[in-house]
Parts: sequence; structure tokens; C-alpha cells
Amino acid sequence: MPIQKVNPVHEMEHDNSVHEENLAYSPKETQEPLVRELWAIKGINNKLRAKQIASRAGLPLIWLDKAPGINGERGIEKVRAERGVLLLRERTSPFIEQFKHPIGRCAKFYKLTAYNNCNFWCEYCYLYLTFRTQPVSTHFINYEKMYDEIIKFDRSKTPKSLRVLNLGELGDPLAVDHITGFASQIIPFMPEHAPKTRLLFLTKSDCVDDILTLNHGGQSIISFSVNTNTVFQQLEHRTASPESRLRAAAKVQKAGYEVRLRIDPIIFYSTWGKDYKALIDKIFEYVQPARITIGEYRPSNGLGSHISARFPESALLKVNKSLVREGKKLRYPKNLRIKMFRTIIDTIKKYQSDIDVALCKEQPEIWKALGLGMKGLSCNCVN
Ligand code: SF4
Repeated sequence: MPIQKVNPVHEMEHDNSVHEENLAYSPKETQEPLVRELWAIKGINNKLRAKQIASRAGLPLIWLDKAPGINGERGIEKVRAERGVLLLRERTSPFIEQFKHPIGRCAKFYKLTAYNNCNFWCEYCYLYLTFRTQPVSTHFINYEKMYDEIIKFDRSKTPKSLRVLNLGELGDPLAVDHITGFASQIIPFMPEHAPKTRLLFLTKSDCVDDILTLNHGGQSIISFSVNTNTVFQQLEHRTASPESRLRAAAKVQKAGYEVRLRIDPIIFYSTWGKDYKALIDKIFEYVQPARITIGEYRPSNGLGSHISARFPESALLKVNKSLVREGKKLRYPKNLRIKMFRTIIDTIKKYQSDIDVALCKEQPEIWKALGLGMKGLSCNCVN
């Protein structure tokens, strides 16, 4: 079912649909490995670690003088140039930083940046805008600096609710874990060296087999972002299918990890109601999530030009034109998003009436209209 623009007044308008032949990628491109080439910066101190990653990945290392900036490509060639490669480098800025601009009731959570930019190709990805001048997918390999910062964080007086380091704010932390093997190093590090801190992996990958037998000490939360099959097929290129993600969720739950889910971005299209209900039916076939956080499609002003540079036929460009401006974001009109959230929450509650359901980066009046969160914040990014 094609994704359509929404008209704030007549929400069921049926033009501007996107058809299969307009998809931005070809089956051949989806079959390419997520990482075609592995690059490293010549000046890094830990060349051995870069070589170990290359050996694990079975890829030759290509040494560069400096990180590549923007390229002149457009369309799918641009995405391939930026996100078909993985750059290994050392991070000079802090690995742990506090989220600076909370929206609505959002907490000032902490993020841990081990990986920038992602190798998946979601058309709505806000990182095209965030990393507009440094758009190449990057993994930071000076783990010792990161470990020092984690230990300091663990010993700090940070309140318990914020003692979660979010690895999924600036990339999908499991997208290239089959290349880096990073999760298998950091997950057991926590119970040994940072017993009061938890990690949050937010992912659209199903690549979890390597973490199933690790000593995680209950300190790593695996949160799967899921969506309808239509959104997956049209917009979340090269990710695992929603059902594969749920299968992976069942595996990690069996291995004792806390499992959370995100349904985000919720997108309006003609069969959205039926499709999101079917998604929730599917969720509860596989897992009992600890909490579910939901959010609507809400592009930042300015993201549109970065989407069109990469996906000139994207259905989102038409959707964007019919959204309303709220602060620095474009959003669905309030009455429509309350309706979408209400439908999804009611379906979730039929399965598990006491489950924590939260909204992501949403205004207090929307929380209130839905009767949510009156007893404190229990969303994806906090304890
Ligand atoms: S998985 Fe997340 S970070 Fe990766 S491309 Fe999709 S939206 Fe961006």
C-alpha cells in the first residue's frame, strides 16, 4: 500500500502515491553487503585494532589521510558513497554527552557515541542533516578512552533514572556489529567495571547471535525499532524486516536481556490503522516488551533537502508538504496524531494493560490528551 501525503483537513486524500517502480533502490543494491569497503585514517594510534576489525570482516583496509567530507554525488550513488563504507577512526570529542535539547517531556538522557551515521538507508533518517558535512559512516576505535569515560560516569552522582547510555542516538549500534564485534566487547565490560550504569542499544538489525551468551548482568537493554511492512519496504532500506527484528527480540529476551520496543516513526497512509494493529498483533506473538515508546514522523526543518539529495522520488517529500510546523519540526496535525497514537495505544493495552507506553519527543498536551505518563517518565531512553 503506497504511502501518501496527508491533508490536514481531508486526511484521506489519495493522490501523490508512490509506486513500486519509484523505489529508490534496486534489488541488486539491497543485496550488496552493508559495508563494501573498510577505511581507516592513517594517523590513528591503534592500527592493530583497525587491522583486527578488517580481518574479522574479511575486507582489506584502505588507508586515508583524512576523513572524507561531502561528495558531489546525488541520488542512490550518494547514499552508497556515504553509507556503503565504514570508516575507522579515533574520537577526540567526548564519547559520553548529554542530550542538549529536550522536546516536550523528553529527559536530558546521555548518549554514547561509538558509531556515527549508520550503514542502513532509512529515507527519513535525521542523521543526513546532523552529519551533513561529515556524512560517512564511522566507527570510533579508541575504546580505552571510551572505557575511561564510562567508569567516570559510573562513579558520578548522576541520578538513577539517567544512568543509561544510549548507543542508538547517532547510528544503529548493531547495524555493523558483524563487522566490528563491538557489542561483544562493551556488554561484558559493564558488569565488570561499571555496575551502576546500563547500555541502551536501539536497533533495526536482527544481528544478535553474537551477544546471546555474553555476561550482560542485566545492564544492557536491547530496544528494537519496529514499523509496518509498508514503511519497512518503502522507507527502511537494508534493515532487517520487522518480523526478523521481532524474532531477534525473542532471542535476546530468552537470553535474559530487557527488551523494549519503539514504534517510530508512525506514518499516516491509507491502511495505517489496519497495518499498525497487525504490527502490534505480531509484536505480542514474539515478545513481552518491558515498555513501548511511540513517536510520529517529525522531520526537522531542513531535512527535506537532504532526503531529496539522496532519494529524489521519496514519498516523504510529498508527505512533508502537508505537515504543520511546530518549533523546529514538521508534524502531523495534532488531531491526527492523537488519533494515530490512540489507536496504537488501545491495541497495545488489549494485550498488556499494565505495560509502560510512552511518547517520544512529544508535547505535554498530547501526553495529557492520551492520559499518559502521569506518574513520571518511563520511556525508551531512561531507566
Ligand atoms: S536505523 Fe536509524 S540511524 Fe540507521 S538509517 Fe535508519 S533511522 Fe538512521
